[in-house]
Amino acid sequence: MALRSSHVHLLLPFLLLFCYFSSISSHNSQDPTTKTMEEFSGYAIHEFESFLSTSLHSISLDIETLQSQIEELSTFSDTPAPSVTRILYSENDVLARRYVKNLMGLSGLSVREDAVGNIFGRWDGYEPELEAVATGSHIDAIPYAGKYDGVVGVLGAIEAINVLRRSGFKPKRSLEVILFTSEEPTRFGIGCLGSRLMAGSEQLANSLKETVDSQNMSFFDAARSAGYAKDNEDLSTVFLKKGSYSAFVELHIEQGPILEEEGVSIGIVTAIAAPASMEVEFEGNGGHAGAVLMPYRNDAGLGAAELALAVEKYVLESGSIDTVGTVGILELHPGAINSIPSKSHLKIDTRDIDEKRRNTVVEKIHQSAVTIAKNRRLSLTEFKIINQDPPALSDKSIIRAMEIATQELNLTHKSMISRAYHDSLFMARISPMGMIFIPCYKGYSHKPEEYASSGDIANGVKVLALTLAKLSQD
Ligand SMILES: [Zn+2]
Repeated sequence: MALRSSHVHLLLPFLLLFCYFSSISSHNSQDPTTKTMEEFSGYAIHEFESFLSTSLHSISLDIETLQSQIEELSTFSDTPAPSVTRILYSENDVLARRYVKNLMGLSGLSVREDAVGNIFGRWDGYEPELEAVATGSHIDAIPYAGKYDGVVGVLGAIEAINVLRRSGFKPKRSLEVILFTSEEPTRFGIGCLGSRLMAGSEQLANSLKETVDSQNMSFFDAARSAGYAKDNEDLSTVFLKKGSYSAFVELHIEQGPILEEEGVSIGIVTAIAAPASMEVEFEGNGGHAGAVLMPYRNDAGLGAAELALAVEKYVLESGSIDTVGTVGILELHPGAINSIPSKSHLKIDTRDIDEKRRNTVVEKIHQSAVTIAKNRRLSLTEFKIINQDPPALSDKSIIRAMEIATQELNLTHKSMISRAYHDSLFMARISPMGMIFIPCYKGYSHKPEEYASSGDIANGVKVLALTLAKLSQD
């Protein structure tokens, strides 16, 4: 009862908010000139802002319940608290999914799932034939991760819907909360599996037919064990057409230290950098570390070392702080102190928000690998581009909606680039996209120390609620 009464004060602002949106949209349909005049004079906007400054800042949401849901979801884990390990289609993943579906149901959303287990909770708008506005994130967690990555964008989205619902708000466009399958690449080596498929990746749909996990279990057997992909191995049912949503917004912890360090409440993501990753292998003759004299060697390890330095050089040559490159894996064979490496294996990751610039780096790395092999009399036995995803820019009107929401809520915000990639990167292929970041403790993520405060989560959910409210009336 105490909770219910604390929500009563939410009702008024949203009713007024709704009236405001309704009046704007009726102006739009009846008389476009009026709208232009209002926009030009800024009168209605000003009126709205003064209303907001008096009442909207008092919006509160049920942060205690949301916090306890985050805690409860974290107990579906293969490793002990405070760590969270939730691997795709595992028993705990299935239990966690059930938990989220139940919450969606309690929030009055109609729930459906696709063949790989992307989960959709829909709140029908009063013009349900219009493309819906979607929000969501993921709940899978890499081994020994934390409880906030992804989860804030799923449970927070459900709470954002609750806030709107309790306030009496009625969306024109339907609102949808999406739980994406396997954002993390842990089990099958493919990140953003669910959203990639939703965006229509035929290549992925085909390769999954051959994909197995480290225990040699096929993707489809694993999916079936979790109750998905029951009928056949045709995943084209998961594909969504471009324009299926009028907007997609993801709420996420920053996973970096900037917001916390600068004391800013909300990050408005303007672009998501995208990685290209490569796998390289050099082969030489190897031999005894004492017996083979220097002029007669073709050391595969030195080839790898030279390439690693070349990666750094080309990245720095790009001239942009946004270009990064990392040799995260460098393995030598046979790996003995008294043996010249006969084989070397590198995995290289390079990212940028500018696709052309990043692809130039990839091309230079390739050329360099060829040249190094030639000069050192090595064979370049492999140069494979594992993935080369295009970066994504956030949609201008969604950025604007997020900015207005933060202003209305009197929250500080800053524009930023997401250096990590998210399901939003792939949603951007089929829908205008935007992302809201909230601060997290020291930027920690993918480890048990990952933490976001109640206050920051509440701010993020409020910004999301207002952004969804706005976009749903467009
Ligand atoms: Zn995430």
